[in-house]
Amino acid sequence: MQVFHTVNGLREILRKHRNSGQKIGFVPTMGNLHDGHLALIKQAKQTNDIVVCSIFVNALQFGLNEDWDKYPRTYDSDCEKLDQEDCDYLFYPEDSEMYPNGLDTQSRVICPTMTDVLCGASRPGHFEGVTTVVSKLFNIVQPDEAIFGIKDYQQLAVIKRMTEDLCLPVKIISAPIHREADGLAMSSRNSYINEDERPKVKVLKQALELIAEQIKAGDLEFTQLEMEAKKRIESEGFKADYVTISNRKTLEPAAVDDREITILGAMYTASARLIDNISINLD
Ligand code: AMP
Repeated sequence: MQVFHTVNGLREILRKHRNSGQKIGFVPTMGNLHDGHLALIKQAKQTNDIVVCSIFVNALQFGLNEDWDKYPRTYDSDCEKLDQEDCDYLFYPEDSEMYPNGLDTQSRVICPTMTDVLCGASRPGHFEGVTTVVSKLFNIVQPDEAIFGIKDYQQLAVIKRMTEDLCLPVKIISAPIHREADGLAMSSRNSYINEDERPKVKVLKQALELIAEQIKAGDLEFTQLEMEAKKRIESEGFKADYVTISNRKTLEPAAVDDREITILGAMYTASARLIDNISINLD
């Protein structure tokens, strides 16, 4: 695998591949790679000739009191893992390469409404940072396909929407959630979970699953179901941020006649914020 630190270096090599008719797949990440990330690389390899991964811990999407400075950075082991997956190129830019004019005056991409709810409500400005960096990365890599995990469901929905709204010539592919043996969704932030809490964090997935079963069984009292799920999470000692039964595409609260529903949840442990989601079809 070849590593590029500059936009120009990566562009030059990708131009050659594009000109010879090769299809380019792209997997953007913030590094500290786990099996969930590697599954995206595998998926990209299946339908593309060339696979590009990026690792960039994007300061623009972190709030002032968030974990940008302590986010796990594991460059050497990430490179080994990408090599093993036969990833072709890694884009690993410095902050100054991505934001040469600084963060404050950086032009931004805004995807309204969808980004004000759920994680966007608790993390103001987060999705503006995501849509801005992803559109920059799309402009740098110009991939045919970009692969994103369903684990970050709202992020995926926002990126699909941005791509559609801005007519970006990239196909957005979604990849299933990779989980630990007890059901916890894999995440770079799982390393923040302390030992006492670790056996209990599966409650987030369990609470969402219970809602899915209740809806399938015909219970459409969504507000009540959401409240009960939050209580269940709090009974394990965690702080529920939100549990929301949403329309899968718009992320607005689901209507009782919606057929495609996504149940999303977020909770705080002592030192981590965890998210998860489950989708159900009612037809
Ligand atoms: P991150 O490095 O956390 O920004 O994630 C990079 C990409 O990997 C995003 O598209 C995530 O949705 C995806 N991803 C992270 N965790 C998982 C997981 N457990 N299963 C599948 N995809 C994941």
